[in-house]
Amino acid sequence: MLQIAEHISLKPYHTFHIEVYAKYFVEVKSVADLLKLMDTTIYKEYPNLIMGGGSNLLFCKDYEGLIIKNTIKGIELLNEDDTYVYIKANAGEVWHELVQYCIEKGYGGIENLSLIPGCVGAAPMQNIGAYGIEIKEVIQEVHALHKDSKQIEIFSNEACQFAYRESVFKRALKNQYIILSVVLKLTKKPLLNTSYGAIQAALAAKNIEHPSIKEVSEAVIAIRSSKLPNPAVLGNAGSFFKNPEITKEAFEVFSKQFPTAPFYPSINEQVKIPAGWLIEQCGWKGKVIGNTGAHKEQALVLVNYGNAQGNEIYNLALAIQQSVKEKFNIEIEPEVNIYI
Ligand code: FAD
Ligand code: NAP
Repeated sequence: MLQIAEHISLKPYHTFHIEVYAKYFVEVKSVADLLKLMDTTIYKEYPNLIMGGGSNLLFCKDYEGLIIKNTIKGIELLNEDDTYVYIKANAGEVWHELVQYCIEKGYGGIENLSLIPGCVGAAPMQNIGAYGIEIKEVIQEVHALHKDSKQIEIFSNEACQFAYRESVFKRALKNQYIILSVVLKLTKKPLLNTSYGAIQAALAAKNIEHPSIKEVSEAVIAIRSSKLPNPAVLGNAGSFFKNPEITKEAFEVFSKQFPTAPFYPSINEQVKIPAGWLIEQCGWKGKVIGNTGAHKEQALVLVNYGNAQGNEIYNLALAIQQSVKEKFNIEIEPEVNIYI
């Protein structure tokens, strides 16, 4: 039964846990519900925002429209052969539960993405990534409902225009589609990626030379649990900024000035500099400003110490951006979706 509630606190629904209100709020559990919602006056007259787990959102003020929380569940095995399986997962599934389901079945490809908060529907939005794997590597299709035409369209991997923490849904087609499901191409013969030092160290500490997908997932879970603040305890939205990528020429100048800076190759022949390091070098790590601050273990994560307003976090982000620009002449761009 479709119930549109009025003046709802969003505090429990997003991981920054900031007290802001939505004019209208509705939870949809099926495509039929969604289609019914689209016929309502409220849907037609107000702006809307689709929400999954609220783990990549910063609200700086009340939302004067309709929040649509997508809780459409379901995981289905579409097809398989000797090597691959094709899994369709609906948008309202919790991402980590899907990862665990696949690991239990022995389907490889998303083990490095263990414990990323949020729902399946948001995963293609910013092409979630961690420990050297991005979801674009396993996405076969994204099924999405057009907000105006009400047509369901199927996007191939290529049509999603995935890039580092980007997709067509975050850029050219922003706010135009409701993602309903994703089809993942996973493998029964996993090719593991343990290139990140932290994973190697975690496996070595357990004397694991030939890990299974489950052991890689457990290593990722252990690392993440030890260094990332749990949003249920300390409000946050993960990495607030993307890692900047600079040209090789710019890097030559940069590395002469800052020879100890960590760096990694990125696509397009560019060089990736960890944003967390840049922020730390500007003295923000562990700094508390009013109700907010940059986390003591990972400066890239901005936190709500209890009663922060969205604007306090936003202002902190602006101050961090400015200091990084002043010290390093590098622009860092937010990864979090900010509603000003
Ligand atoms: P929400 O925050 O609810 O929404 C995010 C955006 O997607 C919004 O613009 C929303 O409108 C849109 N959206 C959501 N669902 C749909 C839908 N069905 N259709 C259309 N639009 C939709 N991210 C990474 O990439 N890698 C990480 O390792 C990582 N680690 C994190 C760790 C922590 C502790 C936290 C708090 C966050 C982390 N994140 C990470 C960020 C976040 O978890 C991901 O971006 C996640 O995919 C967001 O999912 P969500 O359901 O919470 O999305
Ligand atoms: P980390 O291991 O301390 O590394 C710092 C940064 O260096 C990372 O951002 C990572 O880039 C880069 N890096 C490290 N080793 C690398 C390698 N071998 N090859 C290429 N790049 C390398 O980072 P962390 O903060 O603990 O995060 C660990 C992983 O989880 C990262 O992949 C990170 O993206 C992901 N994570 C994401 C969020 C989020 O909200 N988006 C939150 C927490 C963790 P990349 O970020 O490009 O991988």
